[in-house]
Amino acid sequence: MGRMTATTPRRVLLAAPRGYCAGVDRAVIAVEKALEQYGSPVYVRHEIVHNKYVVQTLEKKGAIFVEETAEVPEGSIVMFSAHGVAPTVHEEAAERKLATIDATCPLVTKVHKEAVRFAQDDFDILLIGHEGHEEVIGTSGEAPEHITLVDGPEDVADVEVRDPSKVVWLSQTTLSVDETMETVGALKEKFPLLISPPSDDICYATQNRQIAVKQMGADADLVIVVGSKNSSNSVRLVEVALGAGANDAHLVDFADEIDEAWLEGVSTVGVTSGASVPEVLVDGVLAWLSERGFEDVEIVKAAEESITFSLPKELRRDLRAEAAALVEK
Ligand code: SF4
Repeated sequence: MGRMTATTPRRVLLAAPRGYCAGVDRAVIAVEKALEQYGSPVYVRHEIVHNKYVVQTLEKKGAIFVEETAEVPEGSIVMFSAHGVAPTVHEEAAERKLATIDATCPLVTKVHKEAVRFAQDDFDILLIGHEGHEEVIGTSGEAPEHITLVDGPEDVADVEVRDPSKVVWLSQTTLSVDETMETVGALKEKFPLLISPPSDDICYATQNRQIAVKQMGADADLVIVVGSKNSSNSVRLVEVALGAGANDAHLVDFADEIDEAWLEGVSTVGVTSGASVPEVLVDGVLAWLSERGFEDVEIVKAAEESITFSLPKELRRDLRAEAAALVEK
């Protein structure tokens, strides 16, 4: 293949929406506000959101990330990540006299509540999700006796339930919509009376980012997804791009991870980012591409997003109390 000439049209398709969702925005601001309010250290159980840059930035500001509550010194402040935690984690924190701030995304909490309710009604719950993912561990912990994990269509053959007339499926919030529907289809064949969740468990942000990348996928020779390897929704965007017809797709944390060789013979590059990715990282990728002649940027808009969530209630309470104290002074 000959090298591209200067006349080869080069353009970037930039997905919208991309990057931060309401749950991530809230969780990151919650850590920042907690550091301002209580001072360092604020302990955070697990990566607050699955993004390397975000975690490193918050570490510099005084957050200490731990894997388990047991690592947090007694009496300290601990924040739970956006992915949610099992009730046992709250119990452990209470035993260690930790002050907790729960930054679980409200859309994950919604799935926890569904799990609790269906378990109370004695349903078997088939939770579609990725084994070992923190969100799945948290949701399963709400009703371990009732929940069976189904990690894709290939797991369906082995699924067993107590009563096929009392079974419901729920899911992780950040899955591929298409793959989940495939799994649900296979489950329905096996359990025709399977009930669906009362509303979508795959969240609006995951869905919208997938719709946008699907729209650009067929026109893109290469899709670059900005996101970390442990970010479920970011990894799904790579798969969706390839499924939509992109010739090639890669996940990068930072622009300097892009390989020049990927641009060989490429005239259209699609760019998007996962729900835990700050825009500054996308700016870095766009600058990198622009230096290589990809200056023309077209937005591919799939949806408008205006949803926001208020800060975790423990933090709101303390911020209010501080504001009141200032007024009294
Ligand atoms: S990806 Fe969805 S569920 Fe996860 S934090 Fe964002 S809005 Fe919440």
